[in-house]
Amino acid sequence: RRDRLRTLAQHPARTRDGVEIQLQANLELPEDVELAKLGGASGIGLYRTEFLYMNRPDLPDEEEHLANYRAILAQLDGRPITIRTLDLGLDKHSGAFATGGASNMSNPALGLRGIRLCLKEPELFTPQVRAILRSSALGPVRLMLPLVTSVHEVERTLALITHLKQQLDREGLDYDPQMPVGAMIEVPAAALTARAIARRVDFLSIGTNDLIQYTLAVDRLDESVNDLFDPLHPAILRLIRLTLEAGRALAIPVGMCGEMAGDPRFTRLLLGMGLREFSMHPGALLDVKEIVLGAELTELSRRVDHFFEQLDEADPARFVAELNAL
Ligand code: PEP
Ligand code: MG
Repeated sequence: RRDRLRTLAQHPARTRDGVEIQLQANLELPEDVELAKLGGASGIGLYRTEFLYMNRPDLPDEEEHLANYRAILAQLDGRPITIRTLDLGLDKHSGAFATGGASNMSNPALGLRGIRLCLKEPELFTPQVRAILRSSALGPVRLMLPLVTSVHEVERTLALITHLKQQLDREGLDYDPQMPVGAMIEVPAAALTARAIARRVDFLSIGTNDLIQYTLAVDRLDESVNDLFDPLHPAILRLIRLTLEAGRALAIPVGMCGEMAGDPRFTRLLLGMGLREFSMHPGALLDVKEIVLGAELTELSRRVDHFFEQLDEADPARFVAELNAL
């Protein structure tokens, strides 16, 4: 079976009715690029950059960031990469930077993490954003912001990016002036205001790990509530739906990079909801591709539309089982 899947790696991920689906890889360490390529990833949909900050006493500077991004771009042979700015503070901490974590935040999940921390600490954020901008001169790079909760955070970040572009201009350093900037939708408030956010950015990406945690009030790291961490909860499905609709309304792409995107049990449901860009752990790529190749989008979206019309009465797990048995 593994061999069969391997032969799939170089196939385009096209549905039976001929629609091409983006199957991209999540990257936590640069070494994983090889796995992503083996799995036939069409690009990197989420590059988690926290590792650059962990297990060391100091902070990475702009040149270190740039060297890292340059090395990965060189391996990607023109495939696109979405670099997420650092999301320290929850399960990931820096030795150099007192984000506190469990030690001095009463609730780290609701505390200073992601874009909140970055906007408060420009000396942490600026070198990374400058390096991402500079890397955009070398290949197809997108910049993505974690834990966006309000449009103000997006606007403040865009203003900072504009300012840093002017700096780079004065210094004669190259960047792509059109480099796309996107927001992760992983807080319920962001999903509920996805249109307002979509108006200000070039793309959205749904982070289901945090979206589920915050929507269902279930700590993603607490095993005692593991069984309550339910991607099929109707509230989650509604928030995903809203986000996809916002992308369509504003004509910007919407991807998904949380674990849900790499779970083949949910592939048909998500295709039927309109998702066209999946980013996942490299090990999941071929299993998801196998489902994509057998999918008939018109049929899936017809059934999913009908399911949403009666979401309050329906049993999502049963509906998904039926979809998967088609
Ligand atoms: C998510 O929250 O779904 C996500 C992709 O980001 P992370 O898992 O790094 O928080
Ligand atoms: Mg997240």
